[in-house]
Amino acid sequence: MHVKKGDTVVVIAGKDKGKKGKVLTAIPKKDRVIVEGANMVTKHQRPNPQLQQGGIIHQEGPIHVSNVMIYCDKCKQGVRIGHKLLDNGNKVRVCKKCGEVLD
Ligand SMILES: [Zn+2]
Repeated sequence: MHVKKGDTVVVIAGKDKGKKGKVLTAIPKKDRVIVEGANMVTKHQRPNPQLQQGGIIHQEGPIHVSNVMIYCDKCKQGVRIGHKLLDNGNKVRVCKKCGEVLD
């Protein structure tokens, strides 16, 4: 996947289009990510031994990775990313637009 936990992304489709947030969880097996504050879903939670209190909880639902873009601080928008090999052998992700290193 082109995004991973801790990345700042912009949602580019769906009801939260334009929303910016941090990737809280990456689910590579399903090509999905959970983005802070995006795609909030309401769940009715019954009380259980792990969670003492029942009731209605709000939490982020998974979003398909094709619906998010990495946010570039320099471009101030979601951008496509490329890869660059550094002199020390490390591979980093860069903004295809301005070349800013995003890792
Ligand atoms: Zn950029």
